[in-house]
Amino acid sequence: MKQKAVVIGAGIVGLATARALSLKGLDVTVIEKTDKAVGASIRNFGMVWPIGQPAGELHNRAERSKAIWKDIADSTGLAYSETGSIHAAYYDDEWTVLQELYEIFKAEGREVELLDKKGVIEKSGSVNPDNLMGGLYSASEMIVDPRIAIGNIAEYLAEFLDVKFIWGTAISAVENNKVYTGSAWIGADLIFICSGADFETLYPSLFAGIEITRCKLQMMRFKSSVQGYDLGTSLCGGLSLIHYHSFKAAPSLAALKQRYETEMAEYLRYGIHVMVSQNNLGELTVGDSHEYGLTHDPFDRTAINEMILQYLRQFALISDWKLTQSWNGVYPKMVNGASHLFLHPSDNVYILNGLGGAGMTLSFGLAEECINLL
Ligand SMILES: Cc1cc2nc3c(=O)[nH]c(=O)nc-3n(C[C@H](O)[C@H](O)[C@H](O)COP(=O)(O)OP(=O)(O)OC[C@H]3O[C@@H](n4cnc5c(N)ncnc54)[C@H](O)[C@@H]3O)c2cc1C
Repeated sequence: MKQKAVVIGAGIVGLATARALSLKGLDVTVIEKTDKAVGASIRNFGMVWPIGQPAGELHNRAERSKAIWKDIADSTGLAYSETGSIHAAYYDDEWTVLQELYEIFKAEGREVELLDKKGVIEKSGSVNPDNLMGGLYSASEMIVDPRIAIGNIAEYLAEFLDVKFIWGTAISAVENNKVYTGSAWIGADLIFICSGADFETLYPSLFAGIEITRCKLQMMRFKSSVQGYDLGTSLCGGLSLIHYHSFKAAPSLAALKQRYETEMAEYLRYGIHVMVSQNNLGELTVGDSHEYGLTHDPFDRTAINEMILQYLRQFALISDWKLTQSWNGVYPKMVNGASHLFLHPSDNVYILNGLGGAGMTLSFGLAEECINLL
């Protein structure tokens, strides 16, 4: 008889874990407190983003995750676009960093191109040409629509891997071989807690001693009035260079960061860096800010959205874009620099969480690695 596993949480981490457990031969049930996933996993850009991960373990994990995304998408008909990404430079110091990164990434075997102004505009007609110096193109980035994708993955797991789902059921207690739904205990040989930003409800005393916090991000969605509008590739401005770990390898990054600290202090205060992706419906997702703390103001700051838009105009032509939505999302973030949290608080119980802003990029690969360790 198959061993039974229960996974708590149907965000991307829980789904990736359910997939990996099922492929290992376990009989898996996912239990989710809401009627469908409504957390960080459906509120994000949908960027599967290897360029942001440093060479080695994390970049390999991102590439493995991307391959799994494509496998699942090809089985389910989920749309995805391998648009790649451009980081555009408008200042000498940004251009210097991009040139350095190009050499480093090329040496690491990444598929990158250093583009002059004309080359950038050829990749995306939406790039603002004024003061544009050039850009770093990477072919590896991929976009999915998270609002569709997360539901699709659950359907895929149910249909192809026989994973069971119990929706609208909060787990309020976990013991070594069972979880409590509020009205019944469900038995399991293995329990995985993938509860995202709600990390402390189960095992509160454990989490009291863990270096983890929450990050709130503000996001916007636009639609272009131009029929068949095509962004070409995902676009990022210079501020993104100080956001992702992989860019730390550039020797001139510290100087660039220093200039931003002086000239763009308000942007850094709210952790703003600006990126735009386009989904298969043509919609443009723009963000984001990063505010850290255990408890967040539930309301959005208009000033943050205005700052994001102001910065976006520096590198994208957006006069035909119309704002259709704004929202925020919250993810758990390790404050000790770790890429995730994998804990084993008691017999048969594991916690997988804390992937920060890279859950869509890393979860599938990470879940496989963690389950292989058991
Ligand atoms: C605005 C935004 C933009 C982002 N952009 C990107 C991006 O482009 N690329 C990228 O790689 N990453 C991105 N991220 C990060 C990524 O979205 C997260 O890392 C990832 O979604 C976290 O997944 P999760 O499964 O841990 O959390 P969640 O998606 O929040 O899922 C956790 C689930 O657990 C359930 N749950 C909690 N407690 C219980 C309980 N006791 N019983 C039952 N169910 C429970 C919750 O209801 C929830 O559905 C972004 C995040 C945000 C917020």
